[in-house]
Amino acid sequence: MTTLAITDGRVLRPDLTVTAADVLIDQDSGEIREIGPDLASEADDTLDAANSLVTPGFVNGHCHVAMTLLRGYADDKPLETWLREDIWPAEGELTAADIRAGAELGLLELIKSGVTGFADMYFQVPEVAAAVETAGLRARLGHGIVTVGKDGETAREDAATGLEIAREYDGAADGRISTAFMPHSLTTVGSEYLTEFVPKAREAGVPIHYHANETADEVAPIVDEHGVRPLEYAADRGLLEPEDFVAHGVHVDETEIELLAEVGTGVIHCPASNMKLASGMAPVERLREAGVTVGLGTDGAASNNDLSMLDEARDAAMLGKLAADDASAVPAEAVVEMMTRGSADAIGFESGRLEVGAPADLAVIDLEQPHLTPPHDLVSHLAYAVAAADVRHTVCDGRVLMRDREVLTLEATAVRERALEAAEAVVERADA
Ligand SMILES: [Zn+2]
Repeated sequence: MTTLAITDGRVLRPDLTVTAADVLIDQDSGEIREIGPDLASEADDTLDAANSLVTPGFVNGHCHVAMTLLRGYADDKPLETWLREDIWPAEGELTAADIRAGAELGLLELIKSGVTGFADMYFQVPEVAAAVETAGLRARLGHGIVTVGKDGETAREDAATGLEIAREYDGAADGRISTAFMPHSLTTVGSEYLTEFVPKAREAGVPIHYHANETADEVAPIVDEHGVRPLEYAADRGLLEPEDFVAHGVHVDETEIELLAEVGTGVIHCPASNMKLASGMAPVERLREAGVTVGLGTDGAASNNDLSMLDEARDAAMLGKLAADDASAVPAEAVVEMMTRGSADAIGFESGRLEVGAPADLAVIDLEQPHLTPPHDLVSHLAYAVAAADVRHTVCDGRVLMRDREVLTLEATAVRERALEAAEAVVERADA
């Protein structure tokens, strides 16, 4: 057995108390073996956490990592216009190599900001999977299926690709990669494809993930055509099971909130994207009160514009208070839970908690910073004051991905250069 000890840190426990302790990791099984005093002498290797907070690695519950290539390419437009005028034409120019370059850039950003796991919807998933395999993160991947605007054969092929990818990559990278069947949304995928493919995805044993109730414009057509709310429509077509998770959930009514709570389907809240696209304010406090599992996600870098879960946590707390018109709504404890265990539970990961037997997915945060002084309350700091650049070390599955701010699994300079080159060429082709 090879072991790693995280030494002399302050460890954030599942009950959100902080204790001075070492964390001993079994690197062969990738699990936490012991949390307690003086474990360094038992370890083959150590990672210094003096004056630092040891927290569960953050889990980005909804992302499109390769969209880093389109960061800052088009901003300040509503969702539909932004997608049709800018994003979809540019995405149409992306080659497999571009997606690899964009995914690696995104993974570099995730590791540097203490993220150890994420869920990702995109196309050219084999490229994303290869990047994940190298980078060492944990991921649930899927092919984003869109059938609107396509002829029957092309549309069906896209849905079939979604199913094939989900089957083929589940369990890849020694189990660090899992998959989901991912129709883009309830309005961009025709109901005949859901009827045909959802039962096949269930047979394959993978969950289902999609964008739901993101904008008011997306709710109205379903209500008009089917006479039910979008999540009732989803439930009728078998897309609302306990293992499933939806992104956004901004425009959900009381019936839908109760349905989510009753079934156990998780919601990934993406406050930055919702604010930037003026999609609306998700009723997060109400969702939590009702007992819905709520996680956090950044969505793609083109609508955020970064992949930092620390920024997302702060946004979630602040927007949640505004939405509830109550300063005590969505408190620091709630967002810290959402960015760790909430996201992990929603997307079906065992991580998000530092305890014996849990996956050794964690981040170590440097507290010796002016903006983190004094350390009255470290949970408050995590929610409101810690920045991505404060992350010193990132560990996933017991393996050190970043040590003293140096990413060990990806060549940072080369990754940036490849992404820069790819992004410039894509934009040139899209604008031509
Ligand atoms: Zn999204």
